[in-house]
Amino acid sequence: MALIAGMIRRLDETVVNRIAAGEIIQRPANAIKEMMENCLDAKATSIQVTVKDGGLKLIQIQDNGCGIRKEDLNIVCERFTTSKLQTFEDLASISTYGFRGEALASISHVAHVTITTKTSDGMCAYRANYSDGKMKAAPKPCAGNQGTQIVVEDLFYNVATRRKALKNPSEEYAKILDIVSRYAIHNSGISFSVKKQGETVADVRTLSNAATVDNIRTIFGNAVSRELIEVGCEDENLAFKMTGYVTNANYSVKKCTFLLFINHRLVESSALRKAIETVYAAYLPKNTHPFLYISLEIAPQNVDVNVHPTKHEVHFLHEDSILERVQQHIESKLLGSNSSRMYFTQTLLPGITASSADVIKPASSSSANQGIRDKVYAHQMVRTDSRDQKLDAFLRPTNKSKTSGLAAEESGNKQASEEYGPQDAEMEECSDLNVEATGAETVEKPEGSTETVEKPGGSTERQQLSPENMSARKKQRIDGHMEMEEDARQDLTAACTPRRKISNLTSVLTLQEEISNQAHASLQEMIHNHSFIGCVNPQWALVQYQTKLYLLNSTKLSQEMFYQILVYDFGNFGILRLSEPAPLYDLAMLALDNAESGWTEEDGPKEGLAEYIVHFLTKKNEMLREYFSLEIDEHGNLTGLPLLIENYIPSLEGLPMLILRLATEVNWDEEKECFDGLSKECAMFYAIRQQYIMDESDLNGGQADESGPGTHSWKWTVEHVLYKTFRTYLMPPKKFTEDGTILQLANLPDLYKVFERC
Ligand code: ADP
Ligand code: MG
Repeated sequence: MALIAGMIRRLDETVVNRIAAGEIIQRPANAIKEMMENCLDAKATSIQVTVKDGGLKLIQIQDNGCGIRKEDLNIVCERFTTSKLQTFEDLASISTYGFRGEALASISHVAHVTITTKTSDGMCAYRANYSDGKMKAAPKPCAGNQGTQIVVEDLFYNVATRRKALKNPSEEYAKILDIVSRYAIHNSGISFSVKKQGETVADVRTLSNAATVDNIRTIFGNAVSRELIEVGCEDENLAFKMTGYVTNANYSVKKCTFLLFINHRLVESSALRKAIETVYAAYLPKNTHPFLYISLEIAPQNVDVNVHPTKHEVHFLHEDSILERVQQHIESKLLGSNSSRMYFTQTLLPGITASSADVIKPASSSSANQGIRDKVYAHQMVRTDSRDQKLDAFLRPTNKSKTSGLAAEESGNKQASEEYGPQDAEMEECSDLNVEATGAETVEKPEGSTETVEKPGGSTERQQLSPENMSARKKQRIDGHMEMEEDARQDLTAACTPRRKISNLTSVLTLQEEISNQAHASLQEMIHNHSFIGCVNPQWALVQYQTKLYLLNSTKLSQEMFYQILVYDFGNFGILRLSEPAPLYDLAMLALDNAESGWTEEDGPKEGLAEYIVHFLTKKNEMLREYFSLEIDEHGNLTGLPLLIENYIPSLEGLPMLILRLATEVNWDEEKECFDGLSKECAMFYAIRQQYIMDESDLNGGQADESGPGTHSWKWTVEHVLYKTFRTYLMPPKKFTEDGTILQLANLPDLYKVFERC
């Protein structure tokens, strides 16, 4: 078979240009990046991008920069025309983004381009249309503001293959948002916006007076911005300077966000990324990553800026030494910001000091060391399934049979019934406490979340906190922390459809923000993933997390959780209805009789005070009912309390004090303080406390353990109601690491060391 040589032909010039253009402009986001850089070169302070169909149909980019002179309009779209570079030597000191004059030419070869521009000394604006690098007709005078507007229509109209490859406009739009966001963060002082044509609200928007951190907050969210540490170092010998913001060890997500600018160009450097991630590996949970924004300025002669426009990966002179300096600096910053994690060193048991391995120590960045850290030795393996055997299994029941012969067996049975019995009864109502759960009439029910339970008695009950509703709430609450796990782009575009009545009161939103600002990531991790071991008493419980044993203050944790539920689910509670109305007057009198109230003769007669309290709270009943499901009837009786979590009835012992404090301890004049105070008081009342055990034994004739059907022992309530809810909802504040609410008792590897010596 003869091989026939193909004839070599010179390609038609328009084909050459189109191929070249396709290499530079591969998708709408590239075109926008090039044009955005032109705006920055033109010293614009406002850059507004509008797109249609992910930029495939239309890209419009408007700036308020210097504009283009009328006489230059005929050549701007020709290849190799630029106002930024004249001689080859200029390249070494180039400070603008553009210098080759390729971008506009390329775009005009694959799209229809219209430029409208006005310089400061021009009498009016001029408009011109371009195709294949050439101006189609003489520029027409028109009205316009100072600056330049470039419209790019029907991108790739003449490159069928490229058009086919870019089928998904929302994917393109996400890429556009991503790239503009990065430039917006790097160029604080300049306002950026991106929106879809026809929409009034921008999807990315920064203000010219906003600082870098503000821009990171607007674009990447509070969860990132509140954990940022400023970084910055320089070295004259290596001729580089680094500035930026990186997240501290409290922040960790599945996907690393790395904004890297070298000499103000958005680039990539996998070497630098790896170097920084190695530092974080010692601080963050496995397989999680930080958020990084780094700006490197390197002497121009040491870095080749003349890379191909689409080639983002860069290398520079002294790369290894510079990377090492950056690593050292970030490491020192991370260490400095980490005092909040020192709770690991707290210890209560005498003789067992916290292992030095737990204290954050300068982590080695060598990968060999890393390997050792990752390996789990047999002695580090721990029980991770919370259903495994618990502490109770080793204890004898305290108020059970006195016949020792029976104790062991019964202990076993008790364990079994504690474990499984009440779970079957989980959905049963706790009517034994003379309280019944009903949905609040005033509450707007989210779709599908209302569960109707037909009771044998014929009454129908609605439980507002059905599992679906719970998960909706959970989702909403953890969104702040999860946002970076998803693709950043989705964050910027995804519309969030609320499934429940969302409070938009600024006061409530501020309180919510305060809670999430206080949240401690590693504590949360521990609370969410702990294995429950057992209750010491109603106030204290033991849990295990990884190789460590912790003693947790259930009272404080539950108080905080109820507070958070009150603030986050504001106005969305079901009602625990009292079967018999409780007169506020009697409750107030009971409270005043209690020494804890601090009442003295000087306060005036108790009766008068009690009457005042009744009058005061009855006046506020509408608000209390609507927002807190606290029902007070017109006769001054308390008839309902908020249903905060399923299967949990607060100890009614605290009710008189709650009523007194609602009237006297809450600042009713300021909206935010009022909601905060009411939530705090209610949370205090709902928290599990020492008396809980009393209530139960009273009810059960002193036999707390002989739970009849439908009654839960306090131990069961603590484990299966409170701790279960902590796992999903609690955002533990940082202060818990310092105030003794959470204490580390022991660390397994240390115990092994102790036992080895025995
Ligand atoms: P380069 O940026 O490499 O010079 P471009 O093709 O991107 O090449 O732009 C060509 C020329 O068009 C620029 O040198 C500049 O003079 C002018 N130009 C483009 N966009 C703008 C703008 N937004 N404002 C002012 N001048 C612009
Ligand atoms: Mg340019």
